[in-house]
Amino acid sequence: MYTGFEDKVIVITGSSRGLGKALAIAFAKEGAFVVVNYRANHEDAQKTYKELCKYSDNSSVFCADVTKEEDVKALYSFVKKKYGKVDVLVNNAGINSDSYVNLMSKEGWDKVINTNLTGVFLCTRYFGKIMVKNKYGKIINIASLKGQLGSEGQANYSASKAGIIGFSKSLAKELGKENVSINVVCPGYIKTDINKDNAYKTQIANEMSAMSIEHGLEDYINFTMFLASDRIKGVSGQVFNIDSRIM
Ligand code: NDP
Repeated sequence: MYTGFEDKVIVITGSSRGLGKALAIAFAKEGAFVVVNYRANHEDAQKTYKELCKYSDNSSVFCADVTKEEDVKALYSFVKKKYGKVDVLVNNAGINSDSYVNLMSKEGWDKVINTNLTGVFLCTRYFGKIMVKNKYGKIINIASLKGQLGSEGQANYSASKAGIIGFSKSLAKELGKENVSINVVCPGYIKTDINKDNAYKTQIANEMSAMSIEHGLEDYINFTMFLASDRIKGVSGQVFNIDSRIM
């Protein structure tokens, strides 16, 4: 549907599964060179990469934990060496570890904040540099409505997603003059591994699905690709809720 992604280099963190994978395939179908990233699940990453190869002969897969600076640096060096540029960075890698705060361990807090927020900081810092140098780039950070509304049992997740919003709004002010935009997309509920154990939400999603009004994934992909495209030039520091009719 969208043109203009031919030969664009798109890095998507956490794209071996779920929403990142769906987005990677959609970009590859449009002729982009996609870099699939993941943390641990080699098997899924290879499957995703094989699927991408059906549409793109110059995509890549790279294992890097976004919480670790040395891994992010290695990912950045790989991309720079292979492609010499990055046009779009989608900071999508995310996890949850749900618990009421009075029962939440420091470890449970840290791992969610480190992945969802510090990972965004590290990837943006490395890939942002090359975008600034090229005077071109689009950064899309995946947050959540929960970062705006809060969510019972998910204080760590909600705080990380709220943090992404503040981070992105600040960075938009720093990068705007460099022709690098940074926006936030908050998907609606879409059934993936991240929420497979959340019975209440799964029940709602199944009901919506049965009513044939669950367009969450399609809307999310179409909107994110639109934001990543050159059809949008002067929009930065904004938060877009693609929350369908579920919240
Ligand atoms: P999934 O659990 O399906 O996929 C998560 C992906 O992130 C996997 O590829 C995983 O890799 C990767 N990942 C996890 N930790 C790291 C890390 N430290 N470094 C690199 N990669 C990592 O999640 P979703 O696709 O559902 O979620 C994607 C994003 O969308 C998340 O940020 C999530 O918070 C957000 N979101 C999702 C919603 C939904 O309803 N699904 C709603 C609102 C927001 P590996 O396979 O190696 O573990």
